[in-house]
Formats: sequence, structure tokens, C-alpha cells
Amino acid sequence: MSFKNLGLCDQLLRAIKEQGYDTPTPVQEQAIPVILKKRDILAGAQTGTGKTAGFTLPMLQLLHEHKEDKRARHQVRALILTPTRELASQVQESVTVYGKFLPFKSCVIFGGVKINPQITALRKGMDIVVATPGRLLDHISQKTIDLSKVDFLILDEADRMLDMGFINDIKKVLQILPKQKQTLLFSATYSKDIKKLSDSLLNSPVLVEVAKENQSAEQIKQIVHPVDKIRKRELLTKLINDGDWKQVLVFTRTKHGANRLSGQLDSDGISSVAIHGNKSQNARTKALADFKAGKIRVLVATDIAARGIDIDQLPHVVNYELPNVPEDYVHRIGRTGRAGNKGEAMSLVCIDENEFLASIEKLMQKDIHKFVIKGFAPDPSIKAEAISMGGGGRGRGRNSKPSNSSRRRR
Ligand code: AMP
Repeated sequence: MSFKNLGLCDQLLRAIKEQGYDTPTPVQEQAIPVILKKRDILAGAQTGTGKTAGFTLPMLQLLHEHKEDKRARHQVRALILTPTRELASQVQESVTVYGKFLPFKSCVIFGGVKINPQITALRKGMDIVVATPGRLLDHISQKTIDLSKVDFLILDEADRMLDMGFINDIKKVLQILPKQKQTLLFSATYSKDIKKLSDSLLNSPVLVEVAKENQSAEQIKQIVHPVDKIRKRELLTKLINDGDWKQVLVFTRTKHGANRLSGQLDSDGISSVAIHGNKSQNARTKALADFKAGKIRVLVATDIAARGIDIDQLPHVVNYELPNVPEDYVHRIGRTGRAGNKGEAMSLVCIDENEFLASIEKLMQKDIHKFVIKGFAPDPSIKAEAISMGGGGRGRGRNSKPSNSSRRRR
């Protein structure tokens, strides 16, 4: 199967060629022809599967084929909603890259930065807007954006938007969009809430599923290293040094934990930066750029900050702490093994986290291989203790399920 067989126009084929892509990924192969037929889709695709091109390419093509439909030039015809700023930026980057030979204008809208440059950009006229829900609502209420001509609505990482509590914002946006439009919903995981959202939003959608429900991409090698909590840092440093890892993404559960670990790695002589919600947008962008450029070896991130990070061929992902929400594990390890490249996801798991591990294995319907590293066998006399969720889950026993509010507080 080639991109040409999918029915894409020459301008898009040229852009794809410049990117060096030979063949469509499975999600692209499935989604592109369906989207070109103007059908709504519900796609279960994780990050790293090539999903962004999977919706951007056919969207650009349809906008191109129907470019005369709207009277004014550069009216917003496609709206892409994403949960995080990073993902919004990356999606817009893809729109720019794939749309290089087409005449469309696009911009990205998110909070945490000044609103005026966004207003100026919107005033000039945009065909495609990529936005996070909160700031988009600001523009809607200030009447600085006109969404009355939207033909396309794309919800990217919809599950994460729900997790982050954006459902009411999304509903408000939906209310002002035209009824007649094509809607594409992408989600890495399926839940009752996603089903509810898709039922209310999609019109006889075609289901596109590439990885099996709630399963991580096959090419990711997963391993658990049991270890005592107090020896995790020592083990991580050893793994990085022994393996001579040049680029590793490490996850912690809390912002405080990310800062602390990053400082510790630095003092172990391993260059590292932490990214999380308390860091300014500029600091996060710089950290990501330095990491991509190979200036720092380790990026320590919380789940939300890491959403949408797109680094080609990221070879190593380490769960320094397991997530309390099992779906986050799937998202985390989706950062490695991208678009067919092999990746390795390892989890350093202490006795306190055994129940988190059990929930993850249940979600993925498989056991993850456990391997004790020589010299790091857990001390059998240590008893499990409750895990404090940095404020969100204080006082909860180990057996209690995380509440929605504790999920959002990360
Ligand atoms: P995504 O799942 O959209 O985040 O894409 C993951 C990565 O795969 C991105 O870095 C894309 O540049 C890359 N990619 C997308 N489509 C292809 C393709 N057909 N062949 C090779 N790489 C691709």
C-alpha cells in the first residue's frame, strides 16, 4: 500500500515524500480513505502510530477539494482540539509540514501565553485552528474567533481531555459549532465516557482500531524491575550509565518528585530537566527542545506534561514511579517504539506499587515480565506502605481507587 493508492493529491504526496515516509502506517491506511469519504470516525489509536498524519492529511485534502465552498478566504474551516499545549503545538507543526504545498493558514491557540498575538493572528484569517479547550473558550467569549463555518472537528486524545476535566468546555464549544460537519474522534483508550461522548457527537461513525483495545503497541518491549523505593535512584543511574543511554524519558507521579529526581540525576553527573505543569510554557518548550537536540540526556516528566511529546525513535521510557491511573501507563509507554521503531519501556516497581502494577496488567490483559537486577533485589523485610499522591490522595489507603480530583491535580 502506498500513499498514492490512498487517493491523496500531489501536493500532499510531495510533502509526505519530503518527510521521508515510504508507506502509510496501519492507522493511516485505515483512516485516510474513510475520512476522504466524509465519514465520521472513532479511532482507537495511540500516540506513535502516525495518527496525526492520519487525520491531518485527509483533512487538508478535503479542504483543498472544497476550497471554493466558503465565500471569504481564510475562514476557520477545521478545528482541532487537543488536551495539552505541547500536543497542540505539535499537531499544528504537522499541519504546517503536510500542508506545505497548499495555501492554507493555520494557528495554534492555548493558554499560559498572551492572548493578544493569538487575536491578531485570528484577525488575519485562519483556515485551520488547533486549540486547547480553555483558551478557545476565552476567544469564543471575547468573540475573537468565528467558528460558524467549521466543516471539520477533530478531537485528538479525547480520553485525556476527559481525564483532565475538559468535558464541559468541550460541550460549550460544540454548542456553537455548525450541526453539519465531519467529526473525527481519536482516543488511545476506550471508556464508558468516551463511548458516551462519541454517541452524542458522531454520526454513524466508522470504527478504526489499530492496536487492540487498551493494549500497548506490539513493538514496545516492557519489563518490570522490582526494587526497593530508596534504591530506585541508584538503579536508574546504573541503568543509564551501563546502557550508555543518550535519551531517556522518565516518569514520576508528582511535580515535586520530578524536580527532586532531576536534581539528583544532575548531581549523579547525568544531565536532566524536569517538565511539569508548574513550569512556564517557555521553560517546557526549551526543555523539550534541549532534549530533542541531545543537550540533555534525561527528561523527567509528570503524565500531563508528557502528553503529546513527540520525539522520533525515543528508545527508552522509564516509569520511575508507576501511575495510579492504569491508562496513563499505556500513554507513557506509547512515547517509545513510535511508528514502527523498537522501543523499551521499563518500570522500577517497589512493593508499595504492586497494586498499581496489578491494575495495569489487568487493563492490558497480560503480565509484564519481571526481572530483578543483580544487587538490587528487594529487601523481603520491607512492608508495603500507602502511597501519598502529593496532596490528591492523602489519607487514602492503598486499596482505594484514585478519585477524579486526584487525577486532575497532577
Ligand atoms: P503520531 O502518532 O502522530 O504522534 O506520529 C508518530 C511519529 O511517526 C511522528 O514522528 C511522525 O513523524 C511519524 N510518522 C507518521 N507517519 C509516518 C509514516 N507513514 N512513516 C514513517 N513515520 C511516520
